[in-house]
Amino acid sequence: MKIAVTRETRDAEARVAMVPELVGKLTGLGYDVAVEPGAGAHALISDEEYVAAGATVADNALRGAALVLSVQPLPLEVVRGLPAGTTTISFLPSHQELELVAALRDNGVTSFAVELVPRISRAQSMDALSSQALVSGYRCAVVAAGMLRRFFPLNMTAAGTVQPATVVVLGAGVAGLQAIATAKRLGAVVHAYDVRAAAAEEIASMGAKPIDLKLETLEGAGGYAREMTEDRAARQRELLTPYIAAADALITTAAVPGRTAPMLVTREMVEQMSPGSVVVDLAAETGGNVEGSVPGEVVRIGNASVWGGRNVPSQMPGPASRLYAQNLVNLVTLMTAEPDGDEGGDGGPTGLLAPDFEDEIVIGSCVTHAGEVRHAPTREAME
Ligand code: NAD
Repeated sequence: MKIAVTRETRDAEARVAMVPELVGKLTGLGYDVAVEPGAGAHALISDEEYVAAGATVADNALRGAALVLSVQPLPLEVVRGLPAGTTTISFLPSHQELELVAALRDNGVTSFAVELVPRISRAQSMDALSSQALVSGYRCAVVAAGMLRRFFPLNMTAAGTVQPATVVVLGAGVAGLQAIATAKRLGAVVHAYDVRAAAAEEIASMGAKPIDLKLETLEGAGGYAREMTEDRAARQRELLTPYIAAADALITTAAVPGRTAPMLVTREMVEQMSPGSVVVDLAAETGGNVEGSVPGEVVRIGNASVWGGRNVPSQMPGPASRLYAQNLVNLVTLMTAEPDGDEGGDGGPTGLLAPDFEDEIVIGSCVTHAGEVRHAPTREAME
């Protein structure tokens, strides 16, 4: 069977779904790999590198492909041209892409959304949300360090001592913990806050100081955060204000699954920060943790420069693509028929895609299959 890798067409997307280094993993499973010309260009990967790794590079890479790999969802016109029985794996925010989901369903395409891969131990190596959050968290910390016109670390020199910067991180999930770790490595004094009870220990294990607001913790299903009531949100903002006023850099990464990002920091709070301070809002694209942040822009609020994240993993396309491609290789491996199965016959690699629809990872990440929308919340949104 053939696996196709597309050239991304959506705005601001520099990643690619497969890297030459991992093409051999797919050919080793028995697949042919075809890549659209220029697919890796923004991630500084040439067509020649794909060819050297054993892929073919062709304009018609998608023709005859059993599986199409991409980062962003495929364009509608591409989906409409896919034969029934084709499988796609990509990010697919299905609730925002109802027309596309309808086309996938109506064309008999089996589609998997990487963001729906269950957060269970067995699926950790397939968890693209985590791999990309890791890139985002790192990027947020270096953006803050780059924008701040002062040192992150303490400097004790013959010319005197320069105090370290104080960084506050709000939201200590995968991205937040990586932002903390990076800011710590750069020598800043880091304070961090998250609503989950387990977060304080995780923050401390990174060498940062957990902020204890003495508020109830907010765990929801699956270890995620719950949404705050407006009273709780107001109290949290009030209690966080002195920490934010004292910060040289504020990094916000808070999210609640299936909701717009919680607004944690008002304009008034940012206005209390000192001249030259910096705010990095990773959540700008999903509603914003900071009032007034704009995705993809730096805006001025009071004395602070406020950077709004826009497709942040794509700003480090090489490593983000490498990690994403590994997640896909692991998913494809899970979905490939076993060598000893009926299909394989000779015991060699089968190169046959045969997702097991009784496996919770397969079921959990499937959006459309056999002419139906299998993801219940998306199906309900379409009714
Ligand atoms: P996320 O992107 O959904 O949210 C980021 C962080 O924001 C979370 O830590 C959340 O608690 C926090 N947050 C939400 N509302 C907040 C508020 N009002 N104030 C401050 N912080 C707030 O989170 P994530 O990175 O996807 O991680 C969520 C959970 O899933 C964590 O417990 C993480 O350890 C777990 N996880 C498990 C796996 C796995 O088992 N495979 C993989 C990744 C993450």
